[in-house]
Amino acid sequence: MEEEVVRSLASALQAGGHRLTRQRRVVLEVLEESHEHLDAEALYERARQRTSRISLATVYRTVAVLKQMGLITEHSLGEEHGHFETVREVPHYHFTCLGCGAVVEFDAPQVEEILQELAEREGLEVCGVQFALIGYCAHCRTGGGDAQ
Ligand SMILES: [Zn+2]
Ligand SMILES: [Zn+2]
Repeated sequence: MEEEVVRSLASALQAGGHRLTRQRRVVLEVLEESHEHLDAEALYERARQRTSRISLATVYRTVAVLKQMGLITEHSLGEEHGHFETVREVPHYHFTCLGCGAVVEFDAPQVEEILQELAEREGLEVCGVQFALIGYCAHCRTGGGDAQ
């Protein structure tokens, strides 16, 4: 991670009464560098290659803190357990293929517009959006994938 990014993360954590520990930094680094949506176990596997001083339980605790800080988000991607990624400036959404598990990310600026309109009309404060699509990708639809 770039030092600048590390510093702003450290101050964000500090503002919330947390420290940027080695473990937290490693978890953030792994998420920052992978452009996939890792679950806690995959995160643990990769984090362990960088520091031996990390356990699966630490990873679970760490993602909970980072999520609470708004630094990462959790998506279910059609599965029971969560997948994590760092928060990006432009919100994006996910389509998960039930056949092969492929994840397609997409922007939907219209969603923001609808939410804003709704919030104004109803006087709501929207704190989060859970909008996930599931189905079959083009490959699996034509029977080419290893659909279960
Ligand atoms: Zn598929
Ligand atoms: Zn994503």
